Amino acid sequence: MSWEDNVRKVVPYTPGEQPKIKNIIKLNTNENPYPPAPGVVEALKNMDVSDYRKYPDPSCTKLVDAIASFYSVDPEKVFVGVGSDDVLAMAFLTFFNSDKNILFPDITYSFYDVWADLYRIPYTQVPLKEDFTIDPEDYYVENGGVVIANPNAPTGVALPLSAIEEIVRKNSDVIVIVDEAYVDFGGESALPLIDKYDNLLVVQTFSKSRSMAGMRIGYAFGCKKLIKYLYDVKFSFNSYTMNMPSIELGAAAIADKDYFDKTRSMVIATRERAKKELKDLGFEFGDSMTNFIFAKHPDKHGKDIFDYLRQNGIIVRRFDLPRISEYLRISIGTDEEMDELIRVLRKFLKE
Ligand code: PMP
Repeated sequence: MSWEDNVRKVVPYTPGEQPKIKNIIKLNTNENPYPPAPGVVEALKNMDVSDYRKYPDPSCTKLVDAIASFYSVDPEKVFVGVGSDDVLAMAFLTFFNSDKNILFPDITYSFYDVWADLYRIPYTQVPLKEDFTIDPEDYYVENGGVVIANPNAPTGVALPLSAIEEIVRKNSDVIVIVDEAYVDFGGESALPLIDKYDNLLVVQTFSKSRSMAGMRIGYAFGCKKLIKYLYDVKFSFNSYTMNMPSIELGAAAIADKDYFDKTRSMVIATRERAKKELKDLGFEFGDSMTNFIFAKHPDKHGKDIFDYLRQNGIIVRRFDLPRISEYLRISIGTDEEMDELIRVLRKFLKE
């Protein structure tokens, strides 16, 4: 017998690289290429550092109210956490406690199986169709809960809201989590459904469309009862997960709708241009509704393209996993960054 027999052994999630070198074009973690809203700079200037001696507001009222007001929902239907990773981790812990398997696609956000393993939640990874779309009917079976990223990652492909609604409706005895990390770049949010279905949790983040990955702010919407259950678990875990700057700066960021609309349209416009240029180079990909494109080339290995881009100062993401090892997930940067990407890819394809 050894103490090691009692260790909770897990295989952790591997986040995308955050390189120390400057001058690199970083298209590997779906960050927004534009800075946070101007109001965030103001709010930071106005912060009184001497307040940091105190604990932050455990209910994050200022941030919760700002999110509730932006989306016109009751603040009691809003949960906040340290990035949507924290929100999702709390949701798995709170809602997935049956002996039945939870369901999520085989190709999806690779943190879901990590949380399931961490919490010892049994799960089934439901294969996406050949074209990487989700067949909603696969989720009309007995299960312990459902998690769908919509649009899905890393594929970028979105399901229409009607299909999400059917999945939620057919699973009224379990919680359905819809992870909308990328929804602001072209997906249809399930938020309007929370008043109709008490088993739906919609999760979003400040990390992508609000240019605040470094602040770690995520949030979720659900009926009051469901949000209360989430807070009960969160407050049994750690009362003060959100620090003062993230509460203040998050509230400032969400208040600026014009900047939000402007920057997400810029990302969408660059994505559509990049799709056209990648297609001209022969790349194949689904119709991304996110701030990344998940593409492969019929004549070249994903690993070779990845290595060549890296040697030329461009980092993208590649997952060495079944079905997708030939693919590259390319985040949408500025127009200049995408021009450089296309230039380097063109050179590679000529060699
Ligand atoms: N969901 C999906 C589908 C993601 O791709 C990410 C980003 N890695 C997250 C959730 C978590 O993002 P964050 O914790 O920064 O909100």
